[in-house]
Amino acid sequence: MVTQAVGSAFTMASDELDAINKAINNQDLGQNGDKIRNVIKWMFMPDGQEPNGQRLGILSRNLGNLITARARNDNAAEDGSNVHWLTEDQIVVYCNLDRFQKRDDGDWYDSDIDEAFSKNDAFGTCKGIEPTVAYTWVSDNTNKPSQVQLCPWFINWMKRVETKSLQDAETKGLFYQAVSKGLTKLHALLTPIDVISLLDKVILHEFTHTRIGGESFDVDGPSFLNIRYGWNRCRKLAQEGTNDLRREPQVNADSIALCGSDDANGLVAIRYIKEGKSVSENGKVN
Ligand SMILES: [Zn+2]
Repeated sequence: MVTQAVGSAFTMASDELDAINKAINNQDLGQNGDKIRNVIKWMFMPDGQEPNGQRLGILSRNLGNLITARARNDNAAEDGSNVHWLTEDQIVVYCNLDRFQKRDDGDWYDSDIDEAFSKNDAFGTCKGIEPTVAYTWVSDNTNKPSQVQLCPWFINWMKRVETKSLQDAETKGLFYQAVSKGLTKLHALLTPIDVISLLDKVILHEFTHTRIGGESFDVDGPSFLNIRYGWNRCRKLAQEGTNDLRREPQVNADSIALCGSDDANGLVAIRYIKEGKSVSENGKVN
């Protein structure tokens, strides 16, 4: 399941890169090109501006680097400990927390990268009050891979649902409602386009945080009160048209993930449009 979602996340990144490069260079975006162009504008451009290198050049470079990590994805495997070695020196995706060992000083030691964390700096976020479904750790040491941790509760939820039934967007919406039960704060943030985006979108979001993915930000985070997460807040961020390079939509993880969201499981913007559906400015999917 996760290996498939990782592949899907890379496909999204690749499709998004292709669309962005064509939009910047005013090339034909193919079937439904106008709709794809609109999604790019809604997620990244201030109102009235056309896609351009100033607002999208960094993203184009970062997505280009990210998809090079796919080259060795053939080696990806769901081994016994449920760890996914994607590209050992670049990105590792984890589904469980088995690598952490508690030390005498109370910190938790990660034997894979030989680093220690306080609980709240690492997997504690998977168990915190706010509904974290995944996080990414980028070591200061550039020789160590970026770690994408999928929170076990999220994986368990996913596994309980038959993958087949998730093909259907409506079922997926109901499933997500179940996941977000009790997470009312987050739920209030979500538009339909958010609701039908699940595991592969989450993985793409996290991939953009990795070193090779360009170390994107969660703009205005980490608190869920302000974080630019979900369609409406990402749309607003684009409209604000900031020139602060640490707050531009092209470096905001969820703006990137929402724009590309996809795919084998039937998701959102660019791929969704490619499937003949349409996405409107307020995040509704028709
Ligand atoms: Zn993030």
